Amino acid sequence: MHPILPELRSLALGEIRATGWLRDQLRLAAAGQTGRLAEIWADVGPDNAWLGGTGDDWERGPYYADGLLPLAHVLADEQLLAAANGWVEGILGSQRDDGWFGPGSNDDWWPRMVALKVLIQHADATGDERVPPFLERYFRYQLDHLPGRPLEGWGQARGAENALCVHWLHDRTRQAWLLDLADLLKDQTLDWSGYLTAGLITGPADHFDHHSHVVNVAMGLKADAVWYLRDRDPAYRDATARAYANLYRHHGLVHEQFSGDEWLAGRSPSRGVETCAVVEHMFTLEHLARVYGDPGYADRLEQLAYNTLPAALTADMTAHQYHQQANQVLVNVAHRHWTMSGDDANVFGLEPHFGCCTANLHQGWPKFVASLWARAAAPADGLTALAYGPCRVDTAVAGVPVALEEETAYPFEQSVTVHVQPRQPVRFALRLRVPGWCRHPRVRVNDKPVDAPAGPAFALIDRTWTAGDRVQVELPAGVRPLPRDNGATGLALGPLVLSLAVGERWQPIPGAPGLGDWEVAPAGPWNFGLALPPTVDGELPLPVTRRPVSRVPFALDGAPVQVTVPGRRVPGWQLAENSAGPLPPSPAAADGATAQLRLVPYGSARIRVTEFPQVAQLS
Ligand SMILES: [Zn+2]
Repeated sequence: MHPILPELRSLALGEIRATGWLRDQLRLAAAGQTGRLAEIWADVGPDNAWLGGTGDDWERGPYYADGLLPLAHVLADEQLLAAANGWVEGILGSQRDDGWFGPGSNDDWWPRMVALKVLIQHADATGDERVPPFLERYFRYQLDHLPGRPLEGWGQARGAENALCVHWLHDRTRQAWLLDLADLLKDQTLDWSGYLTAGLITGPADHFDHHSHVVNVAMGLKADAVWYLRDRDPAYRDATARAYANLYRHHGLVHEQFSGDEWLAGRSPSRGVETCAVVEHMFTLEHLARVYGDPGYADRLEQLAYNTLPAALTADMTAHQYHQQANQVLVNVAHRHWTMSGDDANVFGLEPHFGCCTANLHQGWPKFVASLWARAAAPADGLTALAYGPCRVDTAVAGVPVALEEETAYPFEQSVTVHVQPRQPVRFALRLRVPGWCRHPRVRVNDKPVDAPAGPAFALIDRTWTAGDRVQVELPAGVRPLPRDNGATGLALGPLVLSLAVGERWQPIPGAPGLGDWEVAPAGPWNFGLALPPTVDGELPLPVTRRPVSRVPFALDGAPVQVTVPGRRVPGWQLAENSAGPLPPSPAAADGATAQLRLVPYGSARIRVTEFPQVAQLS
């Protein structure tokens, strides 16, 4: 039997705490839809069946707990911890003698997979000794009953989530029968790499199929990396890479998330991306980056965390969208060209279109914080910066307590300082991700330069660390073009995708539930093409201005990064079915004077253009 030794392991939940602007962002979640959901939305209120009531008995309770619990731990917030513990006790208290658990009114395997993920996070954070035997009893029940009542529907699409939790227990107990269960779950789960590499739909889906459901795809992308835990066959790693390449070829959008509104929807920047797909894809990428030890997946993770995740909610995090668009020029209740969604799917609110995202969005930020750092798998030890953001780490390496203080306004700036504070001198390897967009990183230890490779890679510093050591990481990069179909382009600066700040007129929808529903209209014209200067060494010589990050980090007012770019109106580019119409091929026919356009981070603009036609400079 091969031991299960992933390249990297997560730190225990709670060992990484958000600081700086990232803490401000999480406090907004705590004060907004996440912290207040139980009081404004009955589906996760005290009558939820997972809490012993007669209300929703399916996925919504576990979904909510799967985000509330890690948020409570990364903020160390007593009130949120108490609320999260209520869900944990509800789950733990529902187990029967035969191992089955959860609401008696619902026998679906799928919501229990989410509940398992809640429990393993809880156990990681608290060491609660009730969790391993609870899991053991349930997994024995599954081994007995899955042959006669196999996974179906959502559970069949998402069986890798179940197997992930089986591996968690196997890591601790090494019981061989758990691997039999992992094999059984694999046999009963959809063949994701088979579909994504050889059977993928190549344009917008026109009928329901679990394979082309965007949230299933976002979760299914991790399946091979879960099966890889079983025997470490490198073929799984290759299959994941091929699945990504094919998926992005047919459904990749300018901001590095694939489309799905709510089925796979092709490459148009007016197609939607469901919020559940954003947060589930992030969780998948956190797993892929650790299991494969691959910095490229961490690049993708940052791009979601710092673009599509904040864009899915209002800046104050009191309302969210079901679908966001890369080119989002009108947010209102109106018919749009979705594969399958109602007319309210792009408004900001409590439950636009359907409540899955209302329940599920909360995992995005806290699981990202918990994944900023990882540790090398045994027998090696050491710490790895997988993604960057202001945080503090309190852990132990080689038995020595070590604190790391990561000071940065990343991604709004591209330098990071890590203060290393071991209780006593200790030797270990510190690995620092160099993103794929950075070719000339500069890394110094106590002001002394050390070698750092071009990205995507890890810079390795293996030394004896003593209190007061300081690592400075600079990841210089200018504005780079993001080439798109028919000569169109997007722009990015480091991990930030840039969007035209059109300006926004917010209008409350009368009588809305919760903390309000909102339509948003553009405050000015949006149909601009870009007149880009020639690139220099792959980068565009465009002026960048930076400002301190405010207490509402992804607000449009005071956006911390701005880029100015010349552009001209493209009069032939107009609304179609209440979205920006198809981009005219580039170079597009332009009109009028050249304007200096203000671009801001994608996540700061709720009315925006992100994929542009190119136009000629007015000479
Ligand atoms: Zn959803």
